[in-house]
Amino acid sequence: MKISIGIDSVDSQYGGCTTHVLYRIFKRLVENGYIESVLDYPYLVRLNPSIPHKTRGNGAVAINLELKKIASLDTLIDEVASVIVEYVNGIHGDLMRVCAAIVPYELSGYFNDIYVKALTDFVHLDYVSNFIKPIKDKVILPFGLNKGCVGALAALGWDKSRCSYELLIYRPVSHTEADRKMFDSRFLAELDSLEEYRTFCNYDYEGGRAVSVPHGPDPVLLGIRGLDPDKLVKTLKFLKLSEVVEGWCVFKTNQATGAHMVPRASHELKPFRTGCLTGVVKHVSIRPGGDVVLSLTDGFGEIDVAVFKESGLTRYVRQLTSGDVIRACGSVKLWDNLRPVLHVELLEIVDLADKYLRLNPRCPRCGARMKSSGRNKGYKCLKCGFKAADLRPETLKLLRDINTGLYLPTCGSVKHLSIPASLLNTPLDCYAKPPTVVSDFYSQ
Ligand SMILES: [Zn+2]
Repeated sequence: MKISIGIDSVDSQYGGCTTHVLYRIFKRLVENGYIESVLDYPYLVRLNPSIPHKTRGNGAVAINLELKKIASLDTLIDEVASVIVEYVNGIHGDLMRVCAAIVPYELSGYFNDIYVKALTDFVHLDYVSNFIKPIKDKVILPFGLNKGCVGALAALGWDKSRCSYELLIYRPVSHTEADRKMFDSRFLAELDSLEEYRTFCNYDYEGGRAVSVPHGPDPVLLGIRGLDPDKLVKTLKFLKLSEVVEGWCVFKTNQATGAHMVPRASHELKPFRTGCLTGVVKHVSIRPGGDVVLSLTDGFGEIDVAVFKESGLTRYVRQLTSGDVIRACGSVKLWDNLRPVLHVELLEIVDLADKYLRLNPRCPRCGARMKSSGRNKGYKCLKCGFKAADLRPETLKLLRDINTGLYLPTCGSVKHLSIPASLLNTPLDCYAKPPTVVSDFYSQ
C-alpha cells in the first residue's frame, strides 16, 4: 500500500516544529518495521508568507511511503495520530489546529491546485472543503477539517518542479537555549565557502551572522540548506557537532525556488497575494529612513511597490526614474486606508529609459553658453552680443548608474521562498531517484 501523509500547524508558541513531528512519525514507522520503501525524501513545503496568523515559518510537511502488508491503514492512522497527540501535548500545543491528511499516494497530485493557491493566495477553508468533496472518502483527516488542512493538503500537492534541500538537525527536547551557544558558527561560514558541499545561505557574510541557527524554543538545532541531498549528509562530519542530538533528516523543499513569484497584472495584486508585476515606473519616492516607494503602472492600473532597506535592494531602486520598465516580485500587504502595496523581494530591471540633459547652444562667434531670449525668440550671447533665431538647444544623453538585469536579496535578508543572489543561474534540481536506504537521509 502506497500512501502520502501531509501535516501542518503542529507548532505552538511554546515550541515544536511540524518537521520534527514528521521526523518522529517516520521514526516510529521505521522502528515498528512498517515501511517497505520510501518513495521520496520527506517534503518541507513553504507557503504564502503574507498570510496573517500563519504558523511560524509557514511550512507544511509531507511524506510518501510504501507500507508493508503487516501495517493496515487503521494501524497507520493510529500511529500517526498517537505520535502527534503525544507531541502536541508535550509542547502545550492546540490539537484543534493540527491537521494530518492521509491519502492514497496516487492521489497526491490531485492537490496541486491547493498547493498553488496556498503558495500565492489566501485560501478559505470552504474552498478546501469543496475541493475534496469528490474524493472525500479517500481523504483521511484524523483531526478533522480545519485551517491547518490548507497547508497539509498543499504539501501533498507540491509539484516539485524546482527543489532545494535542507538537513534538519534536532536537539533533545529537554535541552535549552543555552545549548546553541556550544555550536561554533565559524563552521557554517566555512561550509558555505566550500564548493564540495553545495550548501547556500547558511551564513550571512555581510551581516556576520549564522542564518542556519533558529532562535526561540525551536527543537531545530541547525537547518543546513543545500542543493544536493547526499552532500548535505556529509556536512554532519564537517560540522563536528559537539552536543547530543536527537537525530536528523534531509527534507526536499521548495525553499529558495521563488515558486511564489507568479505573473500578475496590477488589478490582480490583491492583499495577501504573492506575484510579479511588470510595469513602467511613474514615480519614485525615498522615505525618511531610506525605504523606497515606487508607483508602477501596467496598463490595467497602478500600484505602489515598497522596497525596504533590509532587502538590500534600495541602493538599486533609488537609481530608477519615470519611464523605466521593471518587474517587481513579492507579496501584497495592506497599508493605511486599506491601500494594497507590493512588498518587494526580487527586482528585475527590464529596460532603462533614456535620460537627457538640455543645454542652451554655444555662441557660434565666441563659444560662450548663450541665453534664451524667451519662448521661440532664439538665443543671445551675453558675452559678445551675438543673436540667433535658428539655433537649437543641445541635448546630452546621460549615463545611467544602473544596469538592466535581476537584483536578488542577499542571504541576510532573503525569505524562505525567495531565490537568494548566490543561486542566480544555479539549476535547482529535484533529484528524482528516491532514497532506497533510509539511513542515507535520516538518523534514528
Ligand atoms: Zn558670443
